[in-house]
Amino acid sequence: MFKKILIANRGEIALRVHRACKEMGILTVAVHSTADRDAKHVLIADESVCIGPPAPTQSYLNVPAIMAAAEITGADAIHPGYGFLSENARFADIVTAHDLTFIGPTADHIRLMGDKISAKKAVMEAGIPVVPGSKGEITTEAQAKKVAAEIGFPLLVKAAAGGGGRGMKLARTAADLSEAVSMARTEALAAFGDGSVYLERYLETPRHVEVQILADAHGNVVHLGERDCSLQRRNQKILEEAPCPVLTAEHRQEIGEIVSRAISKIGYLGVGTIEFLYENGEFFFIEMNTRLQVEHPVTEAITGIDLVREQIRVAAGEKLSFTQDDVKFRGHAIECRINAEHPRTFVPSPGKIKEFHAPGGLGVRLDSAVYAGYSIPPYYDSLIGKLIVHGANRQEALMRLSRALDEMVISGIHTTLPLFQDLMNEEDVISGNYNIHWLEHWLQEQQDE
Ligand code: ADP
Repeated sequence: MFKKILIANRGEIALRVHRACKEMGILTVAVHSTADRDAKHVLIADESVCIGPPAPTQSYLNVPAIMAAAEITGADAIHPGYGFLSENARFADIVTAHDLTFIGPTADHIRLMGDKISAKKAVMEAGIPVVPGSKGEITTEAQAKKVAAEIGFPLLVKAAAGGGGRGMKLARTAADLSEAVSMARTEALAAFGDGSVYLERYLETPRHVEVQILADAHGNVVHLGERDCSLQRRNQKILEEAPCPVLTAEHRQEIGEIVSRAISKIGYLGVGTIEFLYENGEFFFIEMNTRLQVEHPVTEAITGIDLVREQIRVAAGEKLSFTQDDVKFRGHAIECRINAEHPRTFVPSPGKIKEFHAPGGLGVRLDSAVYAGYSIPPYYDSLIGKLIVHGANRQEALMRLSRALDEMVISGIHTTLPLFQDLMNEEDVISGNYNIHWLEHWLQEQQDE
């Protein structure tokens, strides 16, 4: 097993990885920018190294500085968390070339899944159902028209290198198509340095349902059920729950088995998430994330499995500590992403936190790296905490969430806490009757009132 892990991230996820390491008896190295000297991940790690100025390109994305920090501290593995370098195949290659372990899949698998066109092709060949769409990249208007004639409208133009909901454009009719293609291409080029786009049928009322998998280097693959992440704003998740309120146990088992078989065929290692849209009882693959996800705690809550510990264990070459038959789903879990943003305009709200009181009690978990007196720097994403509750069933989880939200206090900045408090009173949220567009419609209605 590793003796020392460098955590190439910040915020709540750096803390999350540190906690798993501590429980495993592994020393941790935090890296940080000059803006993060007082960050909790720095205060709590066994060692810390400053890797550059605030701008992410000069610190958390600064590969030479991170590699130097690993060398100086004698770390034997690097955990990338999520975001930043977590899905950067070149970084995984560099880490490996320096005889360190990258805690994640191989660089080749990151590359394969990082390009959504090659990912779709690979999983389709491995037996996973995908959203109908173009076979590959769309480069000419004639090609786009041909695909449109085959699959019909509405169509979504998507960036092969896409992420964070960017580079997606909707074409409702043939008249919108060429503009949607050129806009998506421009946006993708600006955001990802790669303008490749492809076409996909636009599903009108799907839920976002994703399957968590875990694979070791000895041919064992397990699935840990699904998470429903349909409450989204601008294609970004804000609340996640497990299990999906509308999925039957049989259907869960069926999709879990399909995914496990496919992942086994692909020869993948580590944690991964296969994301689907789920409409009228059918699953359609949209992408695979080759890293730990923000919403992994809801799966931990209902399975009792420490995903980060298992991720570290399999990266070190150990066998999974359990089999598929050992995986039992208990109760219901819900996570709210608490952002330092205005709860209605979503304008980021960095600054000093005056008071901070975490909720507690049975079935309540708060993953957060902020504290009273801490100043949220303006340079990074606005996630400041994840509130995760677990109950015997969905109703109990909702009751618990509602009271935990009421207990929680963060003052001095705007947060999205009030948004979740409002959502707790919505009939559709209470009954689980929502799809990926529900939140946008609801926010629009609130604005109109
Ligand atoms: P990203 O990598 O940018 O997050 P995804 O492919 O994961 O992109 O899609 C993000 C979200 O966009 C999905 O959860 C869903 O809400 C929406 N979306 C993606 N593809 C489609 C589609 N074919 N039809 C309808 N909505 C879609």
